[in-house]
Amino acid sequence: TTQQQWRPFNRSRVYMADLESALHYSLRVELAAHPIISGVDLISLKRFISVLAKYFPGRPMVKNLLQSVDTWLTERGDSELLFSSLQDMLDNTGLIADAILPEGVTWVGCQGTQAHFRGYPCSMWTLFHVMTVQATKTPGTEALEVLQALRAYVHSFFGCQECASHFETMAQENMNHVRTPSTAALWLWSRHNRVNNRLAGALSEDPSFPKVQWPPPELCPPCHTVKKNGEHSWDQGEVVKFLKGYFSSDRILPDYLE
Ligand code: FAD
Repeated sequence: TTQQQWRPFNRSRVYMADLESALHYSLRVELAAHPIISGVDLISLKRFISVLAKYFPGRPMVKNLLQSVDTWLTERGDSELLFSSLQDMLDNTGLIADAILPEGVTWVGCQGTQAHFRGYPCSMWTLFHVMTVQATKTPGTEALEVLQALRAYVHSFFGCQECASHFETMAQENMNHVRTPSTAALWLWSRHNRVNNRLAGALSEDPSFPKVQWPPPELCPPCHTVKKNGEHSWDQGEVVKFLKGYFSSDRILPDYLE
């Protein structure tokens, strides 16, 4: 039963097992729905892999794998890509040394109390936040590089079509106003809270993980302030600081990795 397989975890930490599971699921399962990838979708895939190769703060073998796939994709000039040939690269059938993307999913921080809750979408949000935060710590990053790549992936491939169209609508509204890597991380945080707000109380919500405006006061007291009129407001400077700590590569826990 689900009960027996439950993996104890700290609800206020990020786990590498979720991030590697997100990669496995998106690249090997979600993309498999597209046997031939071309045109705009191929550009989306290249952008996504390229930011993963640059910013995914993973184990060396996983970074090596992402970098080898990125190089391969960049160097091949064809206008079409067969998913099956991408799959061979992901499985490293060419025997490139120390380059592996582990197979299968192990949800830890993204476990749900039932199989249809949380899991992949939770891990994608987590991956996206980690990537925008990594970009803030890398000199020379273009403000929109990561967000554009995530947006493109979601638009071309994210299996939840309703999610993809909501996200695209939010991106069209004002994503282009983002001017720095830190405001890119903030943009993603605030759009994620909008989604939380919309989904609070919905049937898709895991009752053990209610949707809240995040981070709640327990997690980041200084992020929350009260205006003169008594209304709640966020201290965005504190939120950026918090995001940079919470999603930073040196705080990601390695529990449950093989
Ligand atoms: P999630 O919302 O998945 O969040 C995962 C973890 O991130 C949380 O546990 C928390 O630790 C942290 N977190 C929460 N809020 C924030 C924040 N603001 N900033 C940073 N970290 C945060 N589902 C729908 O039904 N309709 C949609 O339109 C929809 N759109 C989506 C769009 C995208 C791009 C993605 C990736 C998912 C979308 N989903 C949508 C799925 C939905 O948002 C949740 O991922 C899913 O319901 C699982 O929720 P969860 O409780 O695991 O928390």
